[in-house]
Amino acid sequence: MPVAADNRGRNRDWSFRSTDPEGGFNPYGWSRGDQARFDGVWTDAGDDLVDDLIEDYGVMWPWMCPRRLLTREPTLAEEVYELARRRLIGQGHTYADRPDVVYEHAAMYGSFHAARARRSWPDARPQKCPLCATVFTAGQLNPWMVRQFGPARWCKQCCVEARNGSSGPVTADEAQQRLTTLSTHFAAAPPQDFAQRPVPLDLPDGQRDAIVGAMRTCPPAATVRGLLEAGSWVEVLRRTGLVPEAWRPARGTYCVAADGHPCRSLAERAIDDWLTRHDVEHRIEPAWPRHPEHNPHGRRRADWELPDGTYVEYAGLTSDEYVTKIRAKQQLAHEAGIRLIVITPPDLANLSELLEPWGR
Ligand SMILES: [Zn+2]
Repeated sequence: MPVAADNRGRNRDWSFRSTDPEGGFNPYGWSRGDQARFDGVWTDAGDDLVDDLIEDYGVMWPWMCPRRLLTREPTLAEEVYELARRRLIGQGHTYADRPDVVYEHAAMYGSFHAARARRSWPDARPQKCPLCATVFTAGQLNPWMVRQFGPARWCKQCCVEARNGSSGPVTADEAQQRLTTLSTHFAAAPPQDFAQRPVPLDLPDGQRDAIVGAMRTCPPAATVRGLLEAGSWVEVLRRTGLVPEAWRPARGTYCVAADGHPCRSLAERAIDDWLTRHDVEHRIEPAWPRHPEHNPHGRRRADWELPDGTYVEYAGLTSDEYVTKIRAKQQLAHEAGIRLIVITPPDLANLSELLEPWGR
């Protein structure tokens, strides 16, 4: 299959090549000394995590590594973070005083060089976008696309259009129709920030295609509100008939799980439904113990508590502050002696792998 022009017709990806001397990216001052220190803390468990990422994301795997490392191998991530915090790595780094940033780059570049010293990965595999039939390769996508939409499936243009929504002229009626279509494919009322939310990975491919297709044709939330002259997003949903007249979102809950638990996102619903399907008793919103730094008012809550006292949190990870946020939760859990599972959007593709020990 000939690939799109911006890859110069080559069946090769532009990023993170296993065989080039530099690997195909700007290392931002990442030096041999940095790599040696990184290699000093890296483990076989890190290698296994990388091998799984390569399987799922092809050449885009390093972009997924910092987040996956933090949630799946927190102890190893903490070692890398500690190198960053003590300024033992990233000496030439532009943001040497920001350990979060150094951690993120180290988790990418360090794991990249560690991986290509021991293995290679397949060259680009051209694939056809199911929405527009463009042939493309994973490496043509941008990092935010694989984070929001998952492993390469839709072409770059379709990802951009899904994120931006339709900019063409529409009437209020058309906007409501398109929002209704989106709602049908979501099987839930779309939240106001639907265009920024990760597309759930646990749904059948056909439904995922329909969701992204509907995102492309639906105008942005602000446009729909303007067309309907609605004072709030809830008013948009009410007037479009997507929620009952008297409905109010309780702290941003737009959908309900099979067992009646309110959920803030499709991802939360997917997790709650997995627990129900596998007969795992779960309590929602268990309180975190008070902590002088991470929970001074004692108001923070996790998403679920499992029968053995394990806490489960869903982290959308769309914010740049994910390192700080997740580390704070992990420290809170550690100090309280609570086991914590953090689930991220890519994990939705295989919840059983994470939650199996609790399932029946
Ligand atoms: Zn496309």
